[in-house]
Parts: sequence; C-alpha cells; structure tokens
Amino acid sequence: MLEIRAIEVAYGDIQVLWGINLEVHQGEIVSIIGSNGAGKSTLIRTISGLIRPLRGDIFYRGTMITHQPPSEIVMRGISQVPEGRKLFSGMTVQENLMMGSYCRNNRQEIEEDLNFVYHLFPRLAERRKQIAGTLSGGEQQMSAIGRALMSRPQLLLIDELSLGLSPLLVDNLMEAIGQVHRRGTSILLVEQDVQIALEHAHRGYVLETGRIVLSGLSKDLLENPEVRRSYLGI
Ligand code: ATP
Repeated sequence: MLEIRAIEVAYGDIQVLWGINLEVHQGEIVSIIGSNGAGKSTLIRTISGLIRPLRGDIFYRGTMITHQPPSEIVMRGISQVPEGRKLFSGMTVQENLMMGSYCRNNRQEIEEDLNFVYHLFPRLAERRKQIAGTLSGGEQQMSAIGRALMSRPQLLLIDELSLGLSPLLVDNLMEAIGQVHRRGTSILLVEQDVQIALEHAHRGYVLETGRIVLSGLSKDLLENPEVRRSYLGI
C-alpha cells in the first residue's frame, strides 16, 4: 500500500537520507530500526508530507503523494504519531483527540472512533476533561495515538512509541497497537528499542546514517549477528 522509491532528503546542504526504498503492504506491521540520528524521523516526516524530498517518489495505493500537502495525505488515510507526542498542551484530552478528526465531517463515524479510542485507553476516558499538559508521559502517548486514530487511518506511522516510558507501559501500548492492527490498520513503526520493534513487526528495515543497510523478516533480523551485536548488545 505504501511504496517509497529512491528517496533522498537534505536539510539545507546536508543530505541525511540516501536512496531509501521501502514498502508496507496491506495488513503489515513494519519496523524501521536504527540508532540516534540515523534518519528515522526524517523518513516518517517525509512520508507525512512535512518534509519535501530532494529526489525520489512515494506512492500510496498507487497514487504518487510525494509533493502533496500533509492535510491531503491525512485525508488519503495516512496519519502520524509524532516523536515527543506534540500534543496541544493547553487543551483537554478530548479536544486533542477531536483535533485528529478535523478533516472529517461524518459525526456518527467520529463518535464511533472516539468511543473506540476510549475503549482502547480507558485511562483517557477517565481523564477526557484533563488538560493534556498535566498528563503523565504514558497518558500523553495514549493521547497522541488516539489523536492519530481519530482520522481513521489505514496506515498509521508511529515515531518512537517507547521513548521515556516504562517497559510495562510500553507493553500495554503495544497491546493497544495490536488491537488497532487487528481492526485493519497497517502500521509503520520507528523505534530505537530494537527488541520491541522486531518482536511486534512482521518485517523490519535497518537504517544507518541515512541508508537502509539491511531488511527482512523480523524473526530473521532478530537472529542476524550484525543486528544482535550492534543493536541488542548480544
Ligand atoms: P532521533 O531518534 O534521535 O530523532 P532519527 O533516526 O529519527 O534520530 P533524524 O531526527 O531523522 O534521526 O535525524 C537525521 C539527521 O538529520 C541527524 O543528523 C540530525 O541531526 C539531522 N536533522 C534532523 N532534523 C534536522 C533539522 N530540522 N535541521 C537540520 N538537521 C536536522
């Protein structure tokens, strides 16, 4: 459903992505792993239309979306959970969630999706009137995931789900992501925590200083000596 062909991205004169090719098929969970500064966020932001690539193309369901504005890309069915959550900190949980549905007008479907988010994260239902800036890190991540789900995406991009959260909380969030996936949403997950990323994904790509150096089935990557040495410390 998503096909990235030979994408190159630069910030000013400094090129950070080189010839990236990547695919996500319908129904898949795909991980991009790599260390700090490898270019993972840059790639996710390029797919979302927030960064314009120098070269290369991105196709979504057969349509080229490379130079489309982010709002159009959301309307086509791709939404992003950004690194650092980026909530509207002065607004309530529910107002943040509703911001995710800004491009839709079917009130009944919006209501259904709000109920789904509250079913997925009962903690958010309890705190729907709480100001987002006062939530814990985990609750903020739930809100950011919920906000992305409010556009009813077919492809969900998640940038660093686990960052700064306890292992137990990350397990709960991954369980919720599993439910979203079982409901029919494909997932592209960017993670520094390689174990988590590969345990939950069907396939993975390893990004190193702006280049894909390895890709394959998650179970094969987890057994790959290079991955084990460089990313799992084994
Ligand atoms: P992290 O998880 O630490 O964010 P990452 O793999 O997501 O790492 P990116 O954030 O995509 O990596 O950064 C890739 C490279 O681009 C890094 O060298 C970074 O310093 C640089 N970079 C990122 N954002 C900008 C920017 N706005 N302007 C200039 N350089 C940037």
